[in-house]
Amino acid sequence: MARVLVGVKRVIDYAVKVRVKPDKTGVVTEGIKHSMNPFDEIAVEEAVRMKEKKLAQEVVAVSCGPLQSQETLRTALAMGADRAIHVEVTPAEYEMIQPIHISKILAKLACAEKADLVIVGKQAIDDDCNQTAQMIAGTLDWPAATFCSKIEKNDGELTIAREVDGGVEVLKVKIPAVISVDLRLNEPRYATLPNIMKAKKKPIKKITPKDLGVDTTSRIEIVSVEEPVSRKAGSIVPDVDTLITKLKEAGHA
Ligand code: AMP
Repeated sequence: MARVLVGVKRVIDYAVKVRVKPDKTGVVTEGIKHSMNPFDEIAVEEAVRMKEKKLAQEVVAVSCGPLQSQETLRTALAMGADRAIHVEVTPAEYEMIQPIHISKILAKLACAEKADLVIVGKQAIDDDCNQTAQMIAGTLDWPAATFCSKIEKNDGELTIAREVDGGVEVLKVKIPAVISVDLRLNEPRYATLPNIMKAKKKPIKKITPKDLGVDTTSRIEIVSVEEPVSRKAGSIVPDVDTLITKLKEAGHA
């Protein structure tokens, strides 16, 4: 396998408590800690392991986003990706960009880069869409294997395990293919300081969606974003009988 393309998205860090903007058009992003989408760390790790096992020759990380997405790409490079492509959009465009656009961008790059495999996370933790892998595969007419928890490669074919309700499904796909990765696939490595230093010298190519002929006009309109309803305080009951009586009164039993 010559080349693996990995999609890495810059998202609000998973540990940050997200706040909705007062005008309800979205969430506050300014001055908030961002990091690589956690599932994308797993995707990069898997691609780098493929390279280490000599199953792949080159790992190319791609991120579409504003200038700061280059930090996310540097992390991917420090984890072991060989080079990176930054598909730059303005912060305003980034707020409106959707999986359909990202899919078209990654599909175009997969062709331009002659990739054999595209690996993405199963979902971005900010928009929870879980659409990108499926739509890349549809655009390219390649097989898709989603939510992979184990991947093995043998002669132009991948054997994949997926955790499904009540068990593990095993399937085979021929490459070229698109895969999305699940939590238990691997444990991503931390970038070491020497590798962070080395990553500074690795190339990041900058392009725009327009260069790839991708129109990023929004197809959906976000009507409003609201905070979840806050939970009511609970109450402590002295014994099980009182609990049952209370549940009955509330219509739960
Ligand atoms: P989603 O379909 O939005 O839940 O995203 C699924 C996966 O697609 C993510 O885990 C990333 O691997 C990839 N992806 C989504 N948005 C981007 C982006 N802006 N740049 C690069 N990859 C992305």
